[in-house]
Amino acid sequence: MADVIVLGAGVVGVSVAIHLQRRGRSVLLVDRREPGRETSYGNAGIIQREGVRPRAFPREIGELLRIARNNDLDSRYQLSALPGYASPLAQYWWHSEPERYRKIVAEYEPLIANSVSEHAVLIDAAGAGGMIAKQGWMLLFRSDEKRDKSFAEAEATSREYGIGIAKLDGDAVAKSEPDLHVRAAGALHWTDPWTVRDPGGLVAAYAELFKREGGTVATGDARSLRQSGSGWTVDISSGPASAAEVVLALGPWAKTATDRLGYRLPLFIKRGYHREYKHVPGVTLNHPVLDIETGYLLAPMLRGMRITTGAEFADINAPKTRTQIDGSEVVARQIFNLGERLDAEPWLGARPCTPDMKPIIGRAPKHSNVWFAFGHAHHGLTLGAVTGRLLAEKMTGETPFLNLAPFAAERFAG
Ligand SMILES: Cc1cc2nc3c(=O)[nH]c(=O)nc-3n(C[C@H](O)[C@H](O)[C@H](O)COP(=O)(O)OP(=O)(O)OC[C@H]3O[C@@H](n4cnc5c(N)ncnc54)[C@H](O)[C@@H]3O)c2cc1C
Repeated sequence: MADVIVLGAGVVGVSVAIHLQRRGRSVLLVDRREPGRETSYGNAGIIQREGVRPRAFPREIGELLRIARNNDLDSRYQLSALPGYASPLAQYWWHSEPERYRKIVAEYEPLIANSVSEHAVLIDAAGAGGMIAKQGWMLLFRSDEKRDKSFAEAEATSREYGIGIAKLDGDAVAKSEPDLHVRAAGALHWTDPWTVRDPGGLVAAYAELFKREGGTVATGDARSLRQSGSGWTVDISSGPASAAEVVLALGPWAKTATDRLGYRLPLFIKRGYHREYKHVPGVTLNHPVLDIETGYLLAPMLRGMRITTGAEFADINAPKTRTQIDGSEVVARQIFNLGERLDAEPWLGARPCTPDMKPIIGRAPKHSNVWFAFGHAHHGLTLGAVTGRLLAEKMTGETPFLNLAPFAAERFAG
């Protein structure tokens, strides 16, 4: 019998498992798939050291009207899904009010500040340095207006939080990314982030590290979780497995599990797509580039070039739509020489979100032996490693190296 079952082997669950094991716990890591094959596989791969300001709900009326028209590529919604979104999105809007948002940023920033350094420890131990680039990433501007506004915001972030930026004019962009066929108004280069050229591979490498250090990975379904005596049991391929404690690290599927335990957490998702393309010999992109006025990101990966899309508000199980990924591909091909598509179908994933933009990390309010680690939204890859350390410290009675109070589930009634 293990001490702890960790349900969900995305970047968050695998990191929690490693850190618990390093503190003497015997850990069984359970997923219905191989580690790192869901959201943690398909993202843009950026460890966003600059991301101290989580993605807020727009407050300007013009921006709200633009989104409501549902015509752009960066954000789309399916009408049939809106009733289910009404309550969490209303709360999301409320939390995004400037004064409340300022407080959220202050609480969130310490997590982000430790994102790269905590990954560095695991990357090193896992021997995964070959898939990491340390040159940051860029926002590309087509208009002077957008460039100037973004530069001003980035300067404030840089001053306040000590984050590295470089402001590039059109010539500097052409020099830095000579294979981009666009006369840009400029680019903002966040210089501190690291980028992962195979995010799913990184999580798989972390899972191998966990196994090397004595951990067990098993296939099983979190929906079989049940109380047994004073602990918990889940069915894995070899039969029932039990432990005194359980960690829910189920990313966008966390709500199913927490609902079943009697919680009413206002969790919601933002879906997102990617598609990959063959590398064209001799054509390179040195950094991931966000074409911000269109709303897609182009990232060099080991396997090929990857386009990732913005948010789609839709049911997690609704069929794929292709508007965002197809539209993004058209624009991306105008500025960069992409090879042929590598897969017949685009990849679809879902960012696990909370209305106050902060993850939930800590003990389940009504169960002393259940722990939560989910809701990392746009920054789950970024925050996986730091979350793993913090939760393991809390579970084993150490004083967490950062204050976990702002991330407690109790902040949401029910
Ligand atoms: C298009 C896109 C781009 C993104 N880009 C970035 C980025 O550049 N940087 C960044 O930091 N973040 C990014 N993100 C967000 C990031 O990918 C997520 O926040 C993060 O992967 C969440 O990790 P997780 O471990 O919580 O969830 P997951 O990786 O989804 O892991 C949850 C695991 O639970 C398992 N599971 C679910 N249900 C069950 C069940 N019933 N039984 C057993 N197992 C189950 C799943 O198989 C899965 O392995 C992006 C997201 C998207 C969609």
